Amino acid sequence: MEEQNLILHPDVHWVKVDEKRIQLRQPDGEHITFDEHANDILNALKVLRTPSINDIKVDESISEQIKEILHTRGLLIHKDNASNFQIQRLIDQHGVSGGKVATGKNPTSVTIMGEGKLASVSKTSLLQAGIKIIDDQDKFSISEDKLPLMIVICDQEDHDFLQKMNAKAIQNKQPILFFRWFHRSFKLGPFVVPGETACLNCAHQRELASSLFPNELLAYRSSGRDDLPVYNGGPVLDQMAGALLTRQVLTILSGNYDLSEPSTMITVDPVLLNIKHSPILRIPRCRVCSNYENEPLRAIRDQL
Ligand SMILES: [Zn+2]
Repeated sequence: MEEQNLILHPDVHWVKVDEKRIQLRQPDGEHITFDEHANDILNALKVLRTPSINDIKVDESISEQIKEILHTRGLLIHKDNASNFQIQRLIDQHGVSGGKVATGKNPTSVTIMGEGKLASVSKTSLLQAGIKIIDDQDKFSISEDKLPLMIVICDQEDHDFLQKMNAKAIQNKQPILFFRWFHRSFKLGPFVVPGETACLNCAHQRELASSLFPNELLAYRSSGRDDLPVYNGGPVLDQMAGALLTRQVLTILSGNYDLSEPSTMITVDPVLLNIKHSPILRIPRCRVCSNYENEPLRAIRDQL
């Protein structure tokens, strides 16, 4: 462990319960209670939080043990990272102790498909968070494992456009995330990992199968864009929209599938502040995301 530049995770705090006990609160909501050496532990924590303090006497042995515990829980971070956005630090910490963070090839950049107000406010928010946006991915030849996350954004549930982009991303084997406005709510998702998770077509088929008003739903889908409810925005909704999408993208770029929730439709009602997470099961014979090339040919015996 390179100790010089390590400091306590800024989102950790502690409570001195009484003279003997001290409780360390982690950003993921868990806590550790120490029931001995409360004062020595307190001093060690204070120094780890602000290394420039030099008038505190620290018990070296206890300090070493505390550092070891903190280190295994991902609660010691490099001091240069401490200035990162708080949301990024919280995402990074989430799931560290449970090993939930996916390893492997996560996209490192994004590309935005779609136009309109939502697309524009989302872009501003992503840029402010330092996320790399590739403007026109079709102009470059990008190898499969470096493809950006495709984010499809529209001001209404533009069914044809969303489905077209879904099919395109799946064909490219490119991860894709959907964001649009529908029925007075933001709809975020699904986040699709081609070949592994449910796609937008799976979501639509499932929705149709479980709807009490399938005919109405179908009518919405075949309506012209101009007939559908449209995002109009304004100061509050724009900020919410940007924040929702950027939060989601940060979890995806961090590879934290526990937070980015593939195969889930997230609906956010900005007035009631209700957030609904609806899991979607993949359809085994989905016309878009299943492997139809290997479909068994119908044999004559199947007809008998
Ligand atoms: Zn599908």
